[in-house]
Amino acid sequence: MENLNTYENLDLQPIGGQWRKGSSPRNLDVLNPYSGETLLSLPMANQADLDEAYQAAEKAQPAWAALGPTARGDIMRRVVDLFDARKAEIIDWLIREAGSTRLKAEIEWGSARGIIQESASFPGRMHGRILPSDIPGKQSHVYRRPLGVIGVISPWNFPLHLSARSVAPALALGNTVVIKPASDTPVTGGLLLARLFEEAGLPAGALSVVVGAGSEIGDAFVEHPIPSFISFTGSTQVGRNIGRIATSGAHLKHVALELGGNSPFVVLADADVESAVKAAVTGKFLHQGQICMAINRIIVEEPLVEEFTQRFVDHVKTVSYGDPSKSETAIGPVINSQQLEGLKKKIAKAKEEGATVLLEGEPQGNVMPPHVFGNVTADMDIAREEIFGPLVGIQTARNAEHALELANCSDYGLSSAVFTRDITRGMLFAQGLRAGMTHINDMPVNDEANAPFGGEKNSGLGRFNGDWAIAEFTTDHWITIQTTPRDYPF
Ligand code: NAD
Repeated sequence: MENLNTYENLDLQPIGGQWRKGSSPRNLDVLNPYSGETLLSLPMANQADLDEAYQAAEKAQPAWAALGPTARGDIMRRVVDLFDARKAEIIDWLIREAGSTRLKAEIEWGSARGIIQESASFPGRMHGRILPSDIPGKQSHVYRRPLGVIGVISPWNFPLHLSARSVAPALALGNTVVIKPASDTPVTGGLLLARLFEEAGLPAGALSVVVGAGSEIGDAFVEHPIPSFISFTGSTQVGRNIGRIATSGAHLKHVALELGGNSPFVVLADADVESAVKAAVTGKFLHQGQICMAINRIIVEEPLVEEFTQRFVDHVKTVSYGDPSKSETAIGPVINSQQLEGLKKKIAKAKEEGATVLLEGEPQGNVMPPHVFGNVTADMDIAREEIFGPLVGIQTARNAEHALELANCSDYGLSSAVFTRDITRGMLFAQGLRAGMTHINDMPVNDEANAPFGGEKNSGLGRFNGDWAIAEFTTDHWITIQTTPRDYPF
């Protein structure tokens, strides 16, 4: 692919097969979180736009699902080629719109590309089953079917990946989609993906994007009668409400809720401290800590606390922060000023509750320097609540049992990690954790396109990626054939 022109007119939204302005009188200014520059100003979508998008998706779905598996897979493969051809353009948007460091933008580009590539195999993996039957002469078949129209709501932290991980499987499996990206990231969370899929040959109407305020179109997005599945990624608070509306009785829809996290990072006394420190620094500070799987609590077994803490703080001091476009920058800006204000409150609260400040610094614009607190206890806010920023507290565990107790002391259960040189011990520890994902001798931030991603407790419902996405984005249809007359009782 040569001479591709950079996508233009990103103030337009693909609504029901037409690129046009949203019809709401409200305008959305999309800001660069580092420079404050206005990247785009776009009229938002209203409920009429949303209705048009869902109607078009419903209309487009049967023909799209009727395409053969190779044809649907080919479109996914062409999107992957476009990801390669347009890599610099995609990365540039991830840096400018989402405040991604160059490193994080590369990771996100790769993970979004990875799930689209994985999805190219899904049309050929929609296997049904033939079941034995107790009824003489009956053939019993189970067909795997697309769900129909799927509504996708995504957050601002990994917008491209977190939209792609629903959109690509949903489309590959014969569904059509409407995306509502987060207001901070309409381009990377939706508009860019729509351009890529359109350029790859996706039929008009099969993918719409509505950029609108949660308060204006949020409930309508979920309540609309057309979508049979709402795939939500975001905070636990909003996710609870969406789950309630989607399954309220008036609307019985499938939901996937991928919500907040509070990942424990456990260092047992026999751990390789050097590796643990390195894993902890990246697992905490990648994307300024704004990752659902990011380390939220560091729990160290007593004999290692002093050494680990010292080496961790020393290493964090070497991490550079500032302009995300520079390749040496590890910590860029948080997404917006409200988020920054929330983090300032969390710092003040940690101090008030008696945590020891081991490292701090003054924010510059939206860039919050890394903060580390010692002597943190499980009842402090900084341990109980999701931080979603470059702050972390270190807790001391009396022994491995206590470490497990502390690690499980949370309402969340997304990802987790444990460091030990004894793999059997690590495995038993992992099995004792109530979480959707646990990594032994690695950071909790891991996501692979073929492995189940999801959480327990307040971290949500459902699993993404690989076979789990195939199950999530389809439904079963049991069809039987009575081949001989059946002996009915009356
Ligand atoms: P958020 O819940 O505020 O917003 C997420 C999305 O929901 C956005 O698109 C937003 O516009 C939309 N929204 C808000 N109110 C709505 C409403 N009433 N109806 C419908 N949609 C509405 O979350 P955020 O601040 O964008 O993202 C951060 C949160 O997301 C963190 O808690 C983080 O842990 C979580 N997250 C979870 C995962 C995961 O896979 N488990 C991944 C990334 C982020």
